[in-house]
Amino acid sequence: MKVFKFGGASIKDSSAVRNMIQIIQANQSEPLVVIVSAMGKTTNAIEGILALAMEGQDFSKELVELQKFHNNIVKELSLSHDEILTKEIGQTYEELENQINSFSSSLGYDFLYDQAVSLGEILSSRIVDAALNHAGTQSFWMDARKVVKTDNLHRAAKVDWGATQNIIRSNVSQHIEDHIVVSQGFIGSNSNFDTTTLGREGSDFTAAIFGTSLNADSVTIWKDVPGVLNADPKKFDNTKKYKQLPFKEAAEMTYYGATVIHPKTIKPLAQADIPLYVRSFEHPDEPGTLINECIIPNLAPAIIHKDRQTVISFKISDFSFINEHHISLIFENINRLNLTINLMQNSAISFTICMDDNPAKREMLMTSLKENFSIYYNEGLELITVKNYNQKTINELMKDVEVIIEQRSRNNFQMVYKA
Ligand code: ASP
Repeated sequence: MKVFKFGGASIKDSSAVRNMIQIIQANQSEPLVVIVSAMGKTTNAIEGILALAMEGQDFSKELVELQKFHNNIVKELSLSHDEILTKEIGQTYEELENQINSFSSSLGYDFLYDQAVSLGEILSSRIVDAALNHAGTQSFWMDARKVVKTDNLHRAAKVDWGATQNIIRSNVSQHIEDHIVVSQGFIGSNSNFDTTTLGREGSDFTAAIFGTSLNADSVTIWKDVPGVLNADPKKFDNTKKYKQLPFKEAAEMTYYGATVIHPKTIKPLAQADIPLYVRSFEHPDEPGTLINECIIPNLAPAIIHKDRQTVISFKISDFSFINEHHISLIFENINRLNLTINLMQNSAISFTICMDDNPAKREMLMTSLKENFSIYYNEGLELITVKNYNQKTINELMKDVEVIIEQRSRNNFQMVYKA
């Protein structure tokens, strides 16, 4: 059995959906579970509608536009005659509107977010399921909210692995013999059956959840890039594609900010030793990148770039030196505020951290520590991490930038700089 995941870009319009169907049909010879994200930029669009609603503004125009977008795809796929699909889409939009209109502050915004934003995945999976059946491929629509069980942490729900794996196994096995099973990424439900979501871009993670639950032979993420590249082609020239990457290497790349795969995807697959492929939906005959348990000597340096970075320095002003007590004080507050450090450095009299720009939390952190330190900060900086670096790559990167912090270990080079 295989698990395929198709993200928003791979189903952004009717021709993309047709292309996806071709990929599925070419791989139909063995049991297949297909996980889909919301189509195109639907998730952003629903977030925008929610933002308007929260400001008390009229969102009807945006809602109508989004519905037109989905209806248009249905029409172009020649599915308008499918009464069940048309009814389902209509009902889903009604539900979206009702959810927003019945917003209760006691349940909170994050609760509403999950109920509303998850409908993007429901719409896309309904359309994909109908399109597959229409194209002669027997498909079964599975509601991920019934099979992916999570805690109550809306917008960043944690998976209840035990329950989820059992439910997925028993539900999928009933249909997989004679159907492609189509389900949604990113969404699940808590013990009250309220919808939860796993965090933005979480559909890759869902594919890993299904993959490990079903002990799949492999999981494939179909993307708009040829595979895992050694740098973001939108930011760097002459990028190279990895043919194969060790799980550990790929996991670390996501930790440092590589966005090609959701960071939570690798761990469950590595633990279950299930290979992960990253392949291009535009060039489905190309092999893409295989991520598995392997040793690859002389991997090309991976360059991972993050913008919107803040550097904060905590300085001791009384001629004493930074010691463990000071550091633990800083960390207590970082932990309390749930901040993530991207890089840190200490000297005799100061401790410096680099984190994603977050003015509100930066202010809270500084307020809690202002009695103990003189605090300085810079925002809007950029961070580059190079895994498996060589001097030539670093020289290139350091050209024409003002380096603020530089750090290297045996395998990794990092610098924070002003562009
Ligand atoms: N639709 C969700 C998002 O855009 C989840 C995903 O695509 O992975 O974040």
